[in-house]
Amino acid sequence: MITHLRENIVKAKPILAHWAKTTANTLFPARCASCRELVEKHGALCSSCWQNIHFITDPICYKCGLPFEYNIGEMALCAACMKQKPAYTEARAIFKYDENSKSQLLAFKFHDKTQLAPVFGQWLARLASSYENKAHFIIPVPLHYMRLMTRRYNQASLIAHALSKNSTFPVLPDTLIRRRKTMVQSGLSKKEREKNVHGAFMVPKNKREGLKGKSVILVDDVMTTGATLDACSRTLHDAGVIDVYVLTLARTVIE
Ligand SMILES: [Zn+2]
Ligand SMILES: [Zn+2]
Repeated sequence: MITHLRENIVKAKPILAHWAKTTANTLFPARCASCRELVEKHGALCSSCWQNIHFITDPICYKCGLPFEYNIGEMALCAACMKQKPAYTEARAIFKYDENSKSQLLAFKFHDKTQLAPVFGQWLARLASSYENKAHFIIPVPLHYMRLMTRRYNQASLIAHALSKNSTFPVLPDTLIRRRKTMVQSGLSKKEREKNVHGAFMVPKNKREGLKGKSVILVDDVMTTGATLDACSRTLHDAGVIDVYVLTLARTVIE
């Protein structure tokens, strides 16, 4: 009798699991991570949101990741990098910062549209896979605590954790910190931006030992002139970091 009952329970298990999944999908149908349109599976984008994203592909400047129209050979540098070599080893971005991606990113930044984090995490993990044997940690670009209070979360930190979940790299929190509040960078020229972030970052003394001789993946949402990322890289180098690999969701491309 008991054996019989047990057999029935065993048989019922997959049916129950299937039922639970179907019920969950009916109660919480999969929706586009951006516009909430119904989609096939959880954590995906719908086709129209997908089409609106302009992914950056080769050929690119090997230093800053700026896309080129024509292939001008391996290890090609853009004019800006030729003029002044950035402090980071290299920078890569997933997509172009344009009108379409801007609204997504602003929503992500200011309107708690954090459901995009898993999608971004998967995309960044693909870029990060080339640093598998080179980098040791992920470090997010820090936000000043005053700004953190008004925004409630640091989007760079959110992205860093999403990347970590999809890769083998751990996040090192509170390692790179902002020592003074800087002006909002938008509207400033390249020179003004450089001045604005000069000396704005630091690595606390007790965190220095752990960074010596290591290489890191520095994460932020958008790269514009690269002034912030350059200032962060310089600070990390001063603390003994060897290579800084910058990964951002988007980057500006002046056409
Ligand atoms: Zn959508
Ligand atoms: Zn470049």
